[in-house]
Amino acid sequence: MHAVDRQKPVFRFAPSPNGFLHLGHALSALINQDMAERAGGRLLLRIEDIDQTRCRPEFVHEIFRDLAWLGLEWEEPVRHQSNHVEAYQAALSKLEALDLLYPAFLTRGEVKARVAASEAAGRPWPRDPDGAPLYPPDDRNRSPAERTQLLDGGLRHAIRLDMAKALALVGQSLESPLTWQEDGDGETGTIPADPAAWGDVILSRSDAPSSYHLSVVVDDAAQGVTHVVRGLDLFHATAVHRLLQVLLGLPQPLYHHHRLVPGHDGRKLSKSEGATGLATLRAAGASPADIRAMLGF
Ligand code: GLU
Repeated sequence: MHAVDRQKPVFRFAPSPNGFLHLGHALSALINQDMAERAGGRLLLRIEDIDQTRCRPEFVHEIFRDLAWLGLEWEEPVRHQSNHVEAYQAALSKLEALDLLYPAFLTRGEVKARVAASEAAGRPWPRDPDGAPLYPPDDRNRSPAERTQLLDGGLRHAIRLDMAKALALVGQSLESPLTWQEDGDGETGTIPADPAAWGDVILSRSDAPSSYHLSVVVDDAAQGVTHVVRGLDLFHATAVHRLLQVLLGLPQPLYHHHRLVPGHDGRKLSKSEGATGLATLRAAGASPADIRAMLGF
């Protein structure tokens, strides 16, 4: 292995092994590779397998195979999130010490019923930028005694960030509003971050030790990532990442959110769309050059 040059820009491609890679992943991986090359930077690969309820080891194997076939070259060792649970726990403890977390007991079904009842009564329920309903305020408003009682009763719960408290804390410490630097295919420049739009985001679940939001900021910092290059579907999530970076005292990378590969009906591709799967295309005789051409490189 080469000695690692700490001065170079660091890019990363970070797939989740919950399905086969498709053209959308190939686009992201190749844009990362091209940008890293042009910047004289390094390219890391990260396996985002923190949610073991959705990830499978056989998909990890397929990811390596598809990316190698595509001609991607990444540095070893590859970071697997499932090997770094303590790092996420440490970040959670830091947020806990700032008194920004609370146990959330409502089940998905309970939240769904609440939203349906509200909407049936003509009261629209607030939704996050992905269209998911915001978590109701019940658990945030519980008294310490009530919380202890529920926890002692062994009730399953997630850990959520008290967004209003977190924003108040950050508002006191930052001289200017929360922003990020963007040079992708959508809006560019200094982007105002609006984490409040996501409500009390989930940071850990009873069946997954860390959420996507928490692990991604911890990992990007741990790996010294300077350039986050990913799909426009994660543009608005960056607001949450910036908030967590400030709360945890982590450095701020530059962001580049690139175009998405449209599905047949104009939606973004999902892993179930087998026809655009890299393994399927390879089996049908496509070459890596064909994939690049299909993606408009
Ligand atoms: N693991 C995420 C995904 O596969 C990407 C995370 C990121 O690039 O920040 O969609």
